[in-house]
Amino acid sequence: MAERRDVVIIGAGAAGMMCAIEAGRRGRRVLVLDHAKAPGEKIRISGGGRCNFTNIHAGPKNFLSANPHFCKSALARYSPRDFLDLVERHRIAWHEKTLGQLFCDNSAKDIIAMLLAEMKAVGAELRLSTAVSAVDHDGHSFRVVTENGVVEAASLVIATGGKSIPKMGATGFAYRIAEQFGLPLVETRAGLVPLTLDPATLAAHDGLPGVAVDVIARHGKTEFREAALFTHRGLSGPAILQISSYWREGEEIALHICPDVDFASVIAAARRQNGRQAMQTVLAEHMPKKLAQLLVNDLGINGSLAEQSGRSVEALIQKLRDWRMRPPGSEGYRTAEVTLGGIDTAALDSRSMAAKTVPGIYFIGEAVDVTGWLGGYNFQWAWASGHAAGQDA
Ligand code: FAD
Repeated sequence: MAERRDVVIIGAGAAGMMCAIEAGRRGRRVLVLDHAKAPGEKIRISGGGRCNFTNIHAGPKNFLSANPHFCKSALARYSPRDFLDLVERHRIAWHEKTLGQLFCDNSAKDIIAMLLAEMKAVGAELRLSTAVSAVDHDGHSFRVVTENGVVEAASLVIATGGKSIPKMGATGFAYRIAEQFGLPLVETRAGLVPLTLDPATLAAHDGLPGVAVDVIARHGKTEFREAALFTHRGLSGPAILQISSYWREGEEIALHICPDVDFASVIAAARRQNGRQAMQTVLAEHMPKKLAQLLVNDLGINGSLAEQSGRSVEALIQKLRDWRMRPPGSEGYRTAEVTLGGIDTAALDSRSMAAKTVPGIYFIGEAVDVTGWLGGYNFQWAWASGHAAGQDA
């Protein structure tokens, strides 16, 4: 005989655990299944081990989706402050790092322990190392077939995340289930991911790997002001990860280097004071020396400041403001922090995350076509969408 529950949640990540807590609080008998050996593995490694668990400024404008309005209802009903209240109730010490990003003082494991304690308090059961081989629906309830038997439930919540970091057990399971039930998908791609550069550009960047600099990274009208990092394979750092979610293979991005510095005035003043200095010496007062050297070499600028033509100074200033690059690719799902695209929000009810055409099935978290910026937004979506489904399932 099959076991019975009110709600089965597949995926014990951020969204699945939050959903279990909310459904359990409503008195629903909840079972969470996960094929991994431990719950919340992405929480554990997030934010460099300290989990950037929310962003105090999180709002719909911080998310990418084919329908930018879809996330509004869930985000409004479960705010960053709500999650912070939970964190504080569990006496987890936290701090704001920058730009509203909230991190644990000690360890991301504190967040996992908090979620597990909340699940336990409401009687939600967790079953790990349990792979799901099939899901069927007979019109009334769902049958979830696992290697350890069958579980039936009136509500089924799919919280298995996206495709990023397959090494950590990411599977694309949610998309297969969506297809099985006839729900549309928005094409998926890697987001918050380092970009690669072609071999000729990398050769010209010799010596740059490891160099970080303050930039505005642009793609079309979208821009982010944070650090960029030159790597052995291309570009990374928060500004690049942010812009990568807007960029597509082969498109151009532009970097404005040290946007606080007015290089035209800096170079003019340096020329007046000491025209014998080299251009890279002047630039290196504001950026890493290796980068200053590369920019100067790239434009064929030699000799002292006094020897530079107005045209070459202008070309340099233009490059500092608008350094165009055309990355041929990205590092892909192997290192992407998130998966863009996923279950088309047109198929879901924005209040509950329930599928409109199949009663009782819900999709939450990263599996859905709602993707946040870097900085705690993706967890906020996981908490908010999990909370929304947990109130309905
Ligand atoms: P997940 O957390 O991916 O959970 C999915 C769960 O489903 C997993 O436990 C998995 O084992 C399970 N599962 C998958 N397939 C199956 C299957 N077939 N059967 C059974 N179980 C299955 N976001 C932030 O907001 N702040 C950060 O600091 C941050 N840092 C990050 C750092 C890294 C390195 C990465 C990769 C991501 C980071 N993110 C961060 C993004 C964030 O981790 C995700 O957006 C978030 O975890 C999504 O939650 P989820 O519950 O939807 O999916």
